[in-house]
Amino acid sequence: MAKIKSTRGLYPIPEHQIRWVGIIFFIIIHGVGLIGTPLYIWHYGVTKAEWFLLSVYFVCTSLAITVGYHRLFSHVTYKTNTLFRFLLLFFGAATFEQSALKWSSQHRQHHQFTDTPQDPYDISKGFWYAHVGWILFYKHRVNYDNVPDLKSSKLVMHQHHWYSIWSVGAGMIIPMAIGFWMGHPLGVYIMTICLRMALVANSAFFINSYAHMVGSRPYDKTISARDHWLGAFLTNGEGYHNFHHKFPNDYRNGIRWYQWDPSKWVIFIGSKLNLAHDLKRTPNSMILAARTAA
Ligand SMILES: [Zn+2]
Ligand SMILES: [Zn+2]
Repeated sequence: MAKIKSTRGLYPIPEHQIRWVGIIFFIIIHGVGLIGTPLYIWHYGVTKAEWFLLSVYFVCTSLAITVGYHRLFSHVTYKTNTLFRFLLLFFGAATFEQSALKWSSQHRQHHQFTDTPQDPYDISKGFWYAHVGWILFYKHRVNYDNVPDLKSSKLVMHQHHWYSIWSVGAGMIIPMAIGFWMGHPLGVYIMTICLRMALVANSAFFINSYAHMVGSRPYDKTISARDHWLGAFLTNGEGYHNFHHKFPNDYRNGIRWYQWDPSKWVIFIGSKLNLAHDLKRTPNSMILAARTAA
């Protein structure tokens, strides 16, 4: 990860600003997704094809954030090929959680300034600020100096410059086209687009809120990041967050075989299928030393 100067000028404190577009977007996806889904199923029932599309989109887009935006683009915990990068950028854009470049820049800032005013999702401002308030009620100026490696990737930069087209295309137009083809456009709009986006957004937000508030700190007691099995379950394995903050370059977050970390399993299986290579693992001696010292 690039070394950055920690000055206030480079990372200004976010200004309070009501972000109406984001707020309306959030109200729509949560309202339509969470209220519309039971009403739709009660009224029309649901077909296997609708469930299938929802499941595929949910799994692929939520993993694109954890396997892609987080463990590949933000922390470079493994290397991969162009096809896999494209798929991660495609499904990542479909979550409407910003471009990989912006997401990673803010996430690296979060690791560098954890629990300080310059942490974009500073948990010391409370659960809701870290969960969603930081996006909906604050304007953050992003300093892209901390992502020089990503700026050299044409694919990452294409997704960044054409983010609106990528996200609307991957997250709305393609699923709606499939919905019309299946003969269930309303069901696809309510479930695969709105419900899925609401669930995936909250899953990612729990990493910044729940995983900094609930659980134990076996590796580093000086930071708010915590390990908790439920946090891991809600976030594709990111809930072993104390370990992650201590060893952010490790492709795993849950290091034990029984710990729920589907992101780690996808990267590991990807390495067996020649989609991922150079997986980084922290030596056991370092993990043990951190546990003993904490
Ligand atoms: Zn964190
Ligand atoms: Zn991280």
